[in-house]
Amino acid sequence: MKILFATSELAPWVKTGGLGDVAGALPAALRKLGMDVRVLVPAYPEMLEGFPDAEEIARPLELGGLLPTPTLRQALSPDGTPLLLLDYPPYFNRPGNPYLGPEGRDWLDNHLRFGLLSRVAAWLGSEASTLDWQPDIVHCHDWQTGLAPAYLHYLPGRRARSLLTVHNLAFQGLFDHASLFELGLPDAAWGIDGVEYYGYLSFLKAGLKHANAITTVSPGYAREIQTDEEGMGMAGLLRHRTEQLSGILNGIDDKAWNPATDRHLHQTYSARRLEDKAINKAELQRQLGLEQRRDIPLLGVVSRLTEQKGLDLLLEVTSQALDLPAQLVVLGSGTHALEQDYAALARKHPGQCAVAVGFDEALAHRIEAGADIFVMPSRFEPCGLNQMYSLRYGTPPVVRATGGLADTVIDAADEKLGNGFVFGTATADALLQALQRATTAWRDAKGWRALQKRGMARKSGWAEAARQYVELYQRL
Ligand code: ADP
Repeated sequence: MKILFATSELAPWVKTGGLGDVAGALPAALRKLGMDVRVLVPAYPEMLEGFPDAEEIARPLELGGLLPTPTLRQALSPDGTPLLLLDYPPYFNRPGNPYLGPEGRDWLDNHLRFGLLSRVAAWLGSEASTLDWQPDIVHCHDWQTGLAPAYLHYLPGRRARSLLTVHNLAFQGLFDHASLFELGLPDAAWGIDGVEYYGYLSFLKAGLKHANAITTVSPGYAREIQTDEEGMGMAGLLRHRTEQLSGILNGIDDKAWNPATDRHLHQTYSARRLEDKAINKAELQRQLGLEQRRDIPLLGVVSRLTEQKGLDLLLEVTSQALDLPAQLVVLGSGTHALEQDYAALARKHPGQCAVAVGFDEALAHRIEAGADIFVMPSRFEPCGLNQMYSLRYGTPPVVRATGGLADTVIDAADEKLGNGFVFGTATADALLQALQRATTAWRDAKGWRALQKRGMARKSGWAEAARQYVELYQRL
């Protein structure tokens, strides 16, 4: 089968979160199962630098509305996946993040930028395409390509089937009515059965409405988003489409995230040489100016600093958590307020709490390896990658029972299967209690080792997820 992956992020070149990781790893896993997958991604500066020789293979004309004529360039990623770079420099050859300008505000023409990406994905899946490669399925990801299933719906002739994977329902791609015309969508698309969402045009709603199937990145999240509490305004539509909605748990890149071979670590280790993990803790303490103590547990956080991740809850109880006693290291970037609050926290507790504001891949690996306990108190979590990394690194996670966290972490109360600590309500108290349980358990060396090993033994690559996607493609 021929599958077109349409994505706005592609690790390792362009990534702001889990979507980039998935787009960077899943295509290769699918190709191993015999799928002919190609990836359509905007030609951001990082892509043009990475693939300076990418050759022009098509110029999709007359895309409608105010959409320009871009150039499609072909390249081959190092893992053997063919890439289609959507080149239109006025839209994509810009500094910074795919979505935000240098001041941290959304680019004003995001509807046109990701409208073009969606429209070209649909063009490739339609009879209008001039390529000699036509996908059976256009696999879209999040609101950024959510318009592709709608375009496919309104295009004439033989068309590919479509699948929309929701990595995060919170981002819905809302734009005003005028963008309907600018994007070349028919007037008939305006309405509850089309792309309209309460007076706005929503890319995500368009995808949820028109895709032939919908997946989310964990079974738990697929259930939760059909409830009014967690459905972010889309629950009704999702319940309506429940037959076409399923959850497939993400894998992780188990080559990049393997403590036995990780180049970023001071000392590699494995389940059989767990004592070497302590060398990473000592080195992390030294690097971050924490007291060199082996007798108290080190709590670790790697996260976007946003309300979604529940890190305001951790802020509320940090003093009590440090008194357990414990040390804390936080790596993250996000809202200005949380960045400031965490930086202030580190100043207040020198030697006991260290905070690095920013995005730092190497440090993320060193924290996963050097911390004793990983903390991830998310309010909602479509899948979550960091808890899976921490399981693999023998750093049992403390998580809230939500979405993918609940699907991957089993509370230590289960003596046979437990691999971490799970709490229920999103309150600072509940988090503190879970941290108490974790730090107490850490003092029982033998029990702790068993907990670590169960997490490290968990199957974590992409093979299982890829198998489930292939099954879904075949059904489609
Ligand atoms: P989300 O996609 O919601 O941000 P995930 O846990 O699914 O959360 O994925 C986050 C990814 O981004 C992981 O690969 C994680 O290691 C990485 N990450 C997040 N914040 C940072 C940071 N400040 N520095 C380095 N890596 C980070």
